[in-house]
Amino acid sequence: MAEYRHLYGPVPSRRLGRSLGVDMVPMKTCCFDCMYCQLGPTSVHTGERAEYVKIDEVLSELQSWLDGGGTADYLTFAGSGEPMLNINLGEAMARARQMTDIPICLLTNGALLYRPGPRDAAMQADLIIPSLDAGTEEVFQQINRPVHGITLERVVEGLEETVAAFHGEVWLEVMLVEGVNDSDAELEAIARHIERIDPARVQINTVVRPAPGGNASRVSNGALVRARVIFGPRATVISSAWDREVAEAAAGDEQEVLALITHRPATLQDVAHGLGMHPNEAIKHITHLLSEETIRAEERNGETFYLRAD
Ligand code: SF4
Repeated sequence: MAEYRHLYGPVPSRRLGRSLGVDMVPMKTCCFDCMYCQLGPTSVHTGERAEYVKIDEVLSELQSWLDGGGTADYLTFAGSGEPMLNINLGEAMARARQMTDIPICLLTNGALLYRPGPRDAAMQADLIIPSLDAGTEEVFQQINRPVHGITLERVVEGLEETVAAFHGEVWLEVMLVEGVNDSDAELEAIARHIERIDPARVQINTVVRPAPGGNASRVSNGALVRARVIFGPRATVISSAWDREVAEAAAGDEQEVLALITHRPATLQDVAHGLGMHPNEAIKHITHLLSEETIRAEERNGETFYLRAD
């Protein structure tokens, strides 16, 4: 792939299988300057759309990759900044669709979706994965550091309109940073935005490596579980650190049940519904937690509620 300037990979991706990255802007052009950005500080901090990269060049590289027998599960428009800043993104995705059956994913910070032009461009994708990291304006400014004029309300409004208009699925990614957006109050505020936006899935992530020159740290597994509970059944944790430490230990489901019960007293139905779990599965975890005396049962108005024991 060394000969390509605008393509990278295919890289293995948990969410997308083998994903060929298609880069629509030069390093690092973005309307955000996120405190956790793995690409380092934003050098071109702008909300202005332009032909930052010529799409004819991008598409001719794609054609040569396809001619060479390239295969992937997704073409992912993303890369060295915010792809929606390229004013020809919609045309690039539409032309890529004529060239191959490989489905197209758009990875975006979602900031420009409140504007009709970028939103129309996004409609050319098969799958949109935008971000939402804050529930309040103050935390939005702190974590994402947007260019002037982009507010959280605008981002949420754009996401809501995109989900309503889009023919495919929108998976919303929430990146958690310790001490910044992991309080119950902030997570609950994010959950209210999620309700309004109504994406097909919510994917919770956290910082795995420290950002170059930054001081963002990953949240604990407990905070990931708490976020999962607060965001509801459509949410999953996708952090690779979580994979290693929790999922492989096969303790994830029980931790989620415990986190939900710690958050608020819950009936069996609340647990099953809140975690998108079959009631038989939920009762298995509840029984185990009762036997360990980690939780206790209490009758209230003829219903059994489970509470944290301590
Ligand atoms: S939106 Fe993405 S590319 Fe832009 S600063 Fe944030 S993490 Fe980096």
